[in-house]
Amino acid sequence: MSGYYIPSEGLQSFAQSLMAKMPVVAPVAKGKRFIFDQLGDVAELRLDYDTTVLPPKKVFFPPKQDLLEFDEGKATSCLDPQAKVLLGVHPYDIKAISMTDKLFSDNYADSNYLANREVAVIIGSNVQTPYERAFYGSIAQDLELVGHDAFLTKISDGYVLDVVTEKGEKLIADLGLADASAEQTSEAEGVNAKADEDCPVKLPFAAGDVSEKVRNSFKSEIWDELSKDCFSCGSCNLVCPTCYCFDVQDEWGLGASNGKRYRRWDGCLSSEFSEVSVQGGSENFRENRAERYRHRFMRKTAYLNDKLGAPACVGCGRCAGACTADIADPVNTITRIMES
Ligand code: SF4
Ligand code: SF4
Repeated sequence: MSGYYIPSEGLQSFAQSLMAKMPVVAPVAKGKRFIFDQLGDVAELRLDYDTTVLPPKKVFFPPKQDLLEFDEGKATSCLDPQAKVLLGVHPYDIKAISMTDKLFSDNYADSNYLANREVAVIIGSNVQTPYERAFYGSIAQDLELVGHDAFLTKISDGYVLDVVTEKGEKLIADLGLADASAEQTSEAEGVNAKADEDCPVKLPFAAGDVSEKVRNSFKSEIWDELSKDCFSCGSCNLVCPTCYCFDVQDEWGLGASNGKRYRRWDGCLSSEFSEVSVQGGSENFRENRAERYRHRFMRKTAYLNDKLGAPACVGCGRCAGACTADIADPVNTITRIMES
């Protein structure tokens, strides 16, 4: 749609103008790491972040979300979507959000996710400091970058803001931004064209080959070896921008006639994930950790490819950094499988 120019010294006043309209959730420093948080002070904004501890999906799909309150036979939805700007989302996380949009719209539309998603305006930003475990430059490359409303690209003396939806245009319409010049637009295009080259880690295999080989390794003993140090902590699931499983629980009031239903993130690496009630007890259909570990890689590299048009991994590298045993990195695991 349109391209605008924001000088470096104008970034904070741009963010301030957005904050005057609605809450802005953006990357801020937390100790030595970064998180997406609601901006209280524009000086906290850090578009030079490498990656965030949790992905921005938490804005639409919070780690714990109340679904409904019930009292006797009556249930009331807890849905209360609040408009906000999600600022500074890296391209790999935009791709992950578009995957989640698809998964939560498919068959049974998830209104609890979609309501939050629809009222948000997403402004992406290019990666200025690549995360050392990231491999986004060599995975999900066929997936179009869609789902955001605008995109900020850092150029030598400022930013080019590319607005791609009407929602984005409406948000910035009265901010008085200057149009980007042809040179500024061309510089931004050059920055984005070489973004994948700057990604530190490469996965040197085609998605189709990986999918086939991983599927064919289903019965291999390699999964026992790869997972032998797994603590079943589920951290690799919880930090992943494309994981979307959750558990639903009821919290009962003292009178046992009223209460609240909520959901919280769940992960297939935890041993309880695959435990179901059966008459007189329970059954766990992925009882050992090798089965759970294998399941995660089947999901990431094979099972969802047709539905998503790409592997269910965008190469953010968060799982690699979050795993205490350092066995969750898809690059290492896929390489071992491909070479086995
Ligand atoms: S692979 Fe690592 S992060 Fe994932 S459950 Fe096992 S120990 Fe935890
Ligand atoms: S599997 Fe790991 S690298 Fe891939 S999207 Fe999830 S957290 Fe990121």
